[in-house]
Amino acid sequence: MPIRHLPPSVVSAIAAGEVIERPADVIKELVENALDAQATQITIELENYGLDSLKVTDNGHGIPAAELPLALERHATSKVHTLTEFEAVTSFGFRGEALASLVSVADVVLASRPPGSAVGTQIRVTEGQLSTPHPQAMMPGTQVEVLGLFERQPARLKFLKKLSTELRRSVEIVTQLAIHHPHVGFSLYHQNKILLLVPAGQTAATRLTDVFGQTVTTKLHPLTFEAWPVKLQGWLGSPQLAKPHRRHHFLAVNHRPVSLPQLSQLCKEVYGSLLPPKLEPWLMLNIELPPQFLDVNTHPRKTTVRIMDDDTIWKTLRQALSDALHTPPQRYPTLPRPASLPLSLADSGPNWQPLPRLTSLHTRDQLQNVTLPWKFDSEQPPEIMQIDRTYLAVATPHGLSLFDQHAVHERILFEQYISQLNQLAGHATSATLSEPILIQLEPSYAQLLQDHLADLSQLGWEINEFGPHTFQVSQVPQLLLDHSIETVLHEVLHDIESGKPLVGLDSQAERTAAYLACHQAIKAGDFVAPAQRQELLLKLWQTPNHTTCPHGRPTQIEITIPELEKMFKRR
Ligand code: ADP
Ligand code: MG
Repeated sequence: MPIRHLPPSVVSAIAAGEVIERPADVIKELVENALDAQATQITIELENYGLDSLKVTDNGHGIPAAELPLALERHATSKVHTLTEFEAVTSFGFRGEALASLVSVADVVLASRPPGSAVGTQIRVTEGQLSTPHPQAMMPGTQVEVLGLFERQPARLKFLKKLSTELRRSVEIVTQLAIHHPHVGFSLYHQNKILLLVPAGQTAATRLTDVFGQTVTTKLHPLTFEAWPVKLQGWLGSPQLAKPHRRHHFLAVNHRPVSLPQLSQLCKEVYGSLLPPKLEPWLMLNIELPPQFLDVNTHPRKTTVRIMDDDTIWKTLRQALSDALHTPPQRYPTLPRPASLPLSLADSGPNWQPLPRLTSLHTRDQLQNVTLPWKFDSEQPPEIMQIDRTYLAVATPHGLSLFDQHAVHERILFEQYISQLNQLAGHATSATLSEPILIQLEPSYAQLLQDHLADLSQLGWEINEFGPHTFQVSQVPQLLLDHSIETVLHEVLHDIESGKPLVGLDSQAERTAAYLACHQAIKAGDFVAPAQRQELLLKLWQTPNHTTCPHGRPTQIEITIPELEKMFKRR
């Protein structure tokens, strides 16, 4: 369709607001335009985090020379022309706003060559002034270059986060678009450095592996589901991939990446006791719905959509997700749903001998000297009930003691780790790995690591860049030598990402121990057999700091007999 101005009825229906707030928004709008133009190859090049120059080149169907100036005008679009089309839109764009918004916050050079034309045409807007079009030699497709973003709006520049954070957002947005469009090739560069490079024509699964690496993709469970009007396709991450944030919820509706808090919440509910309360599952899901079930015009940056006829659709989605997660293993063979877990490191790994604790890592734990009000008698173990697959309950001479099975197990494992680590505490230096390991990180984490390589080297890591978002680790802090370096590195990056300061070896080791303990401990929702319940409580009694878990939550609470008497109004 030719580019035309939208009629007033449509213009007044547009969700108003700022379209461009940061470089990542520019990338999103330009890449979406390229996808709307059926491009199969999209290149994004940034200079100075996209502020000096941000260039997107595609091989799509281009813009006819005569329509170039119109493309930059507000509410001029080729994608919809009537209110009916507007309400049933399937393209990314539909408001004709993005290029016009860009022109108001930056200088823009737009060049395009439809495949049928022998030559391209370029127009340029400098400080709002449009130049006369002139021919430009170029491959078929479109190139938009945005120069000096926000240079004329210092207030907007101030609004930006740290530039490295802005770059990470840019990487994230390209990652999102790339995993939901596996047939399209993407390359993203910052000052000529490759941040993401994926070829055209991939399957969704290969694309995921290229972007996230095998450590992630071997822990994903495919999901396909169809029941009119919904189609759902994607992957659910196994619990090991869970994180305390939703940045790993890669959700899309009709391949449009969006945030869908309601779907995120639903998934969390469906995982239920497979995950501890604060962790979020890893998700990559695309919902397909006919346009009449969707309102995509709800947010100025189109970052979310509204799903109509919610009830039926949400019910169907819940069923599909729940079936996928909880069906018997022949469909999802690798999803761990353990009936029981080893209670201690000794049960699961190499011989472990408890050793006296050496350091004062826990003096700040104010509760450490509190003793439990009764003693666990291993000769005559009490009967222990499990309540809601989460709590253990014991009648004691003083009343009723209730334990949180996850917190208890976490504390036991944590102290075992700390004790192990303390054996090495005298040699808290770096250790060279016998064979360097290669770690592929997802692009945004790679960027984060890149920014902190120097800090990490001061903490005993030697990490070098090996390829696009791949790193070679050749030296690690001694304390971490026997652990999964990849897990630890992810944990370190996660700490950095969530704003925790990078800390010295001891605290890092302690934090890592807490992380490993949390991931290995029995979860709420796991059945714990009677013999294991006894072993768990017995071990707890022999463990230092046993009144709280490593995160400071109580492992147990007590309801005393006087309290019971009060509750029953006997007193
Ligand atoms: P919208 O995408 O909402 O239509 P934009 O301001 O993003 O609005 O773009 C205006 C018009 O310019 C589009 O409707 C389209 O016709 C044209 N256009 C923009 N970018 C491209 C591109 N990369 N390839 C082809 N046409 C494009
Ligand atoms: Mg657009």
